[in-house]
Amino acid sequence: MYIVSACLLGQNVKYSGGNNYTPEVEAFLKGKSFVPICPEVFGGLTIPREPCERLGDRVVNKVGEDVTKEFFEGARRCFEKVLEAAGDEEIEGAILKARSPSCGSEVIYDGTFTGTKIPGDGVFTELLRSKGIPVKTELDFLI
Ligand code: SF4
Repeated sequence: MYIVSACLLGQNVKYSGGNNYTPEVEAFLKGKSFVPICPEVFGGLTIPREPCERLGDRVVNKVGEDVTKEFFEGARRCFEKVLEAAGDEEIEGAILKARSPSCGSEVIYDGTFTGTKIPGDGVFTELLRSKGIPVKTELDFLI
């Protein structure tokens, strides 16, 4: 079973109220079992919401509010949902949205809201990696 960022499948859960639909990801998942998740919505954040970025050990939004608790709680709840959905099935990996403070992999924004990228994982990605689950992004499916 695969874990996938819900916004990549066209669900309108991103901060702007829109999505990041990526047909290549949908095509890869065709005929496979998968569970779509959105850690930020699971953490109780609204749609739409202020954009957020990781800032050291914290997560902050663009108006300076600390949303660390929501992000970590959302990641934890999402992982619970994933385990429940998987049952006895093996979790083969995750396909998550690049650069997101929850779902990003290897590259994220630096917390200054200036579009500056730094090495790092999103909060949910970090949790999955700590459990040994491989994470890819939609960029791995684009040519
Ligand atoms: S938290 Fe992940 S799934 Fe939710 S909108 Fe952001 S990138 Fe997409």
